[in-house]
Amino acid sequence: MNLQSSKDILTALVGFDTVSRNSNLDLIAWVEQYLDGLGVAHERIYDETGKKSNLWATVGPAAVPGYILSGHTDVVPVDDQTWTNDPFTLTERDGKLYGRGATDMKGYVACCLAAVPDMLKADLKKPLHLAFSYDEEVGCFGVRRMIAKMPERPAQPLACFVGEPTGMDVVIGHKGKRSFKVVVHGHTCHSSLAPMGVNAVEYAARVIAKIREISDRHAKSGAREALYDVPFTTGHTGYLHGGTALNIVPDVATFEFEFRMIAADKSDVLAQEVIDYAKNVLEPEMKAVAPEAGFDFQGRSEFAGLDTPEDAEVTQLAKQLSGRNSHSKVAYGTEGGLFSQAGIPTVVIGPGLIDQAHKADEFIAVNELAKCGAFLDRLIAHCAR
Ligand SMILES: [Zn+2]
Repeated sequence: MNLQSSKDILTALVGFDTVSRNSNLDLIAWVEQYLDGLGVAHERIYDETGKKSNLWATVGPAAVPGYILSGHTDVVPVDDQTWTNDPFTLTERDGKLYGRGATDMKGYVACCLAAVPDMLKADLKKPLHLAFSYDEEVGCFGVRRMIAKMPERPAQPLACFVGEPTGMDVVIGHKGKRSFKVVVHGHTCHSSLAPMGVNAVEYAARVIAKIREISDRHAKSGAREALYDVPFTTGHTGYLHGGTALNIVPDVATFEFEFRMIAADKSDVLAQEVIDYAKNVLEPEMKAVAPEAGFDFQGRSEFAGLDTPEDAEVTQLAKQLSGRNSHSKVAYGTEGGLFSQAGIPTVVIGPGLIDQAHKADEFIAVNELAKCGAFLDRLIAHCAR
């Protein structure tokens, strides 16, 4: 991979404001033009609005099993962050490239694109697929459409490398996540008549306490996976809104909660315990006072965990290509869980550090791009054999 070329491409990619709420089509069109210049065919896989698209491209023989290079094109917002320079103008200082998405994860996408000329020269026996998604940061939505199309492809991939920033460490696992929004409907009245009302804030609090109880149980005696910083399943409530004044029994309250699961714990079981408590224990009590009272659980987001075995072929190959002997598991989620769920062996390995992601003055070190380039060079050689 040509390092200068990866920097030039990263400059172009960072220049597109692809915060998840925006369209990513300008960036996609730029990448298509680049691939057209190299004679590489590509395919869009749109969202339901037609305003965002995944991009799929194959270099090498498509009818043979190969490897997926997976990256997302969207980035998190810069709202309320103080940046030294314009976040959408890549700026180099002291061997670091600053810009929104530099590390998460346009740096990897730029490396993959910069490696395409080498892929073309290499006479690949196994193909390399570029799989660039939209809406990763808001729940890994885009990639699901790309994965859904996999069975129609002429050959199923051998493995997938998701290039989220790991400092080129081989990451074989991350937790899954499941989250809900809950609307609690109560019954309002003057607070002096409290027992005649159904206090939505109080019932929300009781469900939240249940979520905490489940979390505490997992912290104390739940299954363990030592490679995680927090080696057990966690739960958490992110916000609670409800009520207007002290003398009014609140008739509505809203909160959101999540579970982040290690592989041993199933999201359905965790969610059901909360829902059962709300529906079977609390709701009859509420309805006895006011029939319209109750809970409305709305699923928010869900992504599968990643749990690739240490001795899997993809783990061994990633170690060989990156020159590492170790592997790790990370706290954040990736598209890797979905590829893995679809039966594609997957590891997460990419340039830059996750500590840099989502912050003001996000950057990627130039030598991280170089390390990723070396990884891709070895992967290309592996595929040319
Ligand atoms: Zn990311």
